[in-house]
Amino acid sequence: MMYDVIILGSGPAGLTAAIYTGRAWLKTLVLESAVVGGNTAIADQIDNYPGFPFGILGGELMENFRKQAERFGSELHMEEVIKITNGPDFKTVITTEGQYQARAVIIAAGAKRRQLGLDEEQEYLGRGVSYCATCDGAFFRGYPVAVVGGGESAFKEALYLADIASRVYIIHRRGEFRASPGSIDKVMKNDKIELKLNRIIKRIEGDTVMRQLVLQDVPSGEEERLAVEGLFVSIGLVSAADFVQDLVETRDGYIVTDERMQTSVEGIFAAGDIRAKHTRQIATAVGDGAQAGVAAIEYLKE
Ligand code: NAP
Repeated sequence: MMYDVIILGSGPAGLTAAIYTGRAWLKTLVLESAVVGGNTAIADQIDNYPGFPFGILGGELMENFRKQAERFGSELHMEEVIKITNGPDFKTVITTEGQYQARAVIIAAGAKRRQLGLDEEQEYLGRGVSYCATCDGAFFRGYPVAVVGGGESAFKEALYLADIASRVYIIHRRGEFRASPGSIDKVMKNDKIELKLNRIIKRIEGDTVMRQLVLQDVPSGEEERLAVEGLFVSIGLVSAADFVQDLVETRDGYIVTDERMQTSVEGIFAAGDIRAKHTRQIATAVGDGAQAGVAAIEYLKE
């Protein structure tokens, strides 16, 4: 099937690009492999996206993005993209379900959660280990849980879980945080959250489900056991651009673009967290998506 533009990813960057290309009457297809709205759709309260003075839930925000993109005619298919090939007249996007052609492609597939890299992390995935408090937190009502990480995501997850779990431990490998002062303040004032600083997780132990963590104190090397039923891994993001490493230029796994979001391949653009850049926020992803949409429109006119 032939489209003017195919957009990979339905997060803030992808859906913004779709609003622009749809409004320009370009036949637009958005492909999404996991959750419509991307990582933002599973975020709890978002307080730094302009236009919502009292904040907005991530799911609600992305539902609005989706409706707006569909209002201008974009199609949305739930399919995982495996490969993109570049031909003289059009690009081919191959998915798990089939293949599509387009004259321009915008890659806005975002970033994936970084894993701790422990052997037991996969063993206990879904049996204690989770990467999303808003998705899985309810399973731990009344039980102690831990969140690993010292960034904004970890602090937001800990605050969300504090309303559900009996106790929440934040495990962080050093004593300073990347989280915002506002979130740090809320965590410090929350009686149900306890900080375990300068500690790394050595092992996850359990039987059919996880039962405890073995922590190691960084300066002394001493080990301690922490009885928790859940571990929420929130240690940042890694690029989701593995499937295009051979197609476009990348840096540290992220796609390199110019300021118009053009990649090293003509007619293929990248936007949002998948792009090599300094700041990864919803607002910056929206800016990227708008620019990629405009650049794709101009490219197709030429
Ligand atoms: P982040 O800011 O990169 O923080 C990652 C945290 O995990 C850091 O504390 C880091 O420790 C730790 N870490 C990394 N690798 C680790 C490992 N292998 N083992 C143990 N700890 C490890 O990631 P993030 O919190 O996911 O945030 C990503 C971006 O999204 C940020 O720009 C953030 O501001 C934004 N965000 C915004 C909102 C919002 O509501 N607006 C919500 C969430 C996130 P070190 O500090 O020692 O490196």
